[in-house]
Amino acid sequence: MQLYKDQQIHVFNSLSGQKERFQPIVEGHVGMYVCGPTVYSNVHLGNVRTFMSFDMIFRYLKHLGFKVRYVRNITDAGHLENDADEGEDKITKKARLEKIEPMEVVQRYTVDFHNVLDIFNFLPPSIEPTATGHIIEQIELVKSIMDNGFAYEVNGSVYFDVHKFNETEHYGKLSKRNLEDLVHNTRALDGQSDKKNPQDFALWKRAEAQHIMRWPSPWGDGFPGWHLECTAMSTKYLGDKFDIHGGGMDLKFPHHECEIAQNEAAKGCSPVNYWMHANMLQLNGQRMSKTTGNTVNPHELLSGDNKFFSKAYSPSVIRFFNAQSSYRSVLDLTDNGLQASEKGFHRLMDAINLLEELKGDSSSTFNVQEWKQKCYDAMNDDFNTPILIAHLFEAAKLINQIKDNKASLTSEDLGLLKQTLHDFSFDVLGLMNITEMNTGADKLSGAIELLIELRQQARLNKDFAMSDKIRDELAAVGIQLKDGKDGTTFTIN
Ligand SMILES: [Zn+2]
Repeated sequence: MQLYKDQQIHVFNSLSGQKERFQPIVEGHVGMYVCGPTVYSNVHLGNVRTFMSFDMIFRYLKHLGFKVRYVRNITDAGHLENDADEGEDKITKKARLEKIEPMEVVQRYTVDFHNVLDIFNFLPPSIEPTATGHIIEQIELVKSIMDNGFAYEVNGSVYFDVHKFNETEHYGKLSKRNLEDLVHNTRALDGQSDKKNPQDFALWKRAEAQHIMRWPSPWGDGFPGWHLECTAMSTKYLGDKFDIHGGGMDLKFPHHECEIAQNEAAKGCSPVNYWMHANMLQLNGQRMSKTTGNTVNPHELLSGDNKFFSKAYSPSVIRFFNAQSSYRSVLDLTDNGLQASEKGFHRLMDAINLLEELKGDSSSTFNVQEWKQKCYDAMNDDFNTPILIAHLFEAAKLINQIKDNKASLTSEDLGLLKQTLHDFSFDVLGLMNITEMNTGADKLSGAIELLIELRQQARLNKDFAMSDKIRDELAAVGIQLKDGKDGTTFTIN
C-alpha cells in the first residue's frame, strides 16, 4: 500500500530551522541514518528516548508504504573521552578498568543495548554497522579529504583543516555557529597538540604504544576519529546524499557539523537533506547526570528498583509517556507524569479491547473517515504524536459512548475505526496491548490449573506414574509445581 501518495509529510529540518515538505530523493524510498550508541556502558535512558523517537518515525514511514533503509551504527572505537580529540578511548578505558578485552566491552554493552531495545518493542534497523568493521572505508575517506586539500598529517595523525574549509564553505551552518565566534571562545593550543588550530578535528589519530585498538594506515598505526565513522557508514549504505540524518540534540555540535564538513570536503556535496534532532530527557526537572546522582537507567525504571519512582512502569507506559511529548521538546520524567501516562495508556487499551465486543448499527453518529485523516494529519505535521494521542483518546471516548448507547457506528465504520486504532497504537507508536498479553498469561494459568487437577486425580487413583509424568514434564518446560498443605501452587521460570 502506497499510502505516502496521499499523505504529505512536513519535517522540521534543523539545518534550515523550519518545517519543510518532505520529498525523498527517490520516490517511494527513504534513506535514514541515526547515530547509534558508544558501547562502553549500559545504554543511557536519554539515548533510549532518542532512539525511541526515531523508531516511531521509522515505523510511520514504513506504515505509509515507503521502502525505508534505516542505518543505525554502533560506535565501538574512536570515541574519546572529550570532544576535543583528547583523552582515552572510552572503550579502551573501560577495558583497562575491568581488565578485559575492548571487544568484550563492546560485546557486553551491545548485547545490553539490544536487550533494552527489545524490551521497549523497537524494530531493528535495516543495517547496524560498526566503526571497527569499516576501517578501510574510513581510511579511504581520509585520503580523499587530504587529496582535496582539506586535511593535513602531523606525526602520524591526520586533522581536518577547519579554517581552510571555512574559506569556501560555512563551518557551523547546522549548529548556527561562526568560525570567528568559535575561535574567540576556544582556548589557545597549549603547545602539546599537533593541530594547526584548536578548531581542527582528528580524522585519524596515531596510536601510542599502549593503545590496544589500532589499525595500520598510510600514516602508521592508529585509529579513526569519532566523526569519521558516521560519514563512512552513512554514505556507504545510503549514498553520498541521503534523506534523513537523526540523532540527539547534543550531537549537533561538533559531531554532525563535522560530518557535514567531511562529506563536503570528500565528496563535494552536503550529505543530508533533512537533519532531525530529538530533544533531551530530564529527570524531575533537572538534567540527568551520573555526577549529581540525578539519573536512572532503563532497568531501574522498568523494575521500580530506584529512589525516584513509586513503582515499576511497563515498557509500553514509558513509550506512551514519550509519545505524549513531541520528539523536539524537552521531556521531563516524573512519577506523576508516568502515573498519568499509565492511566491514559490503560484507558486507550481498554477501549481498543472493548471495541471487539461492539456491534454495528444502522447508521453512524461519528465521521470515522474524517477522524482517521486527522490522525494522519497529526503525524504528517513533523510526527506530532501528542496530537495523534489526543485523537486516539477521542476514539476511546466514542467507543465508551457506543457501549452506553449514546453513539453508534455502522459495522463498516467500526471496522475502519478498529483498523486505524490498531495501525496507530501498535504499528506506529509501537505500544503493546498489555491486556491481550495478560489474557495470554491467564490462558496459560488456566491450562496449568487443569493439569494440576488431573495430577490430583491421578494420585487419588494411585496412578503415580501419571502424576509424576505431569510434574516432570511441566518442570522440563520451566513450570515448577510445589505441593503444600493448602494444595499445589506453581511458578513459571
Ligand atoms: Zn554519528
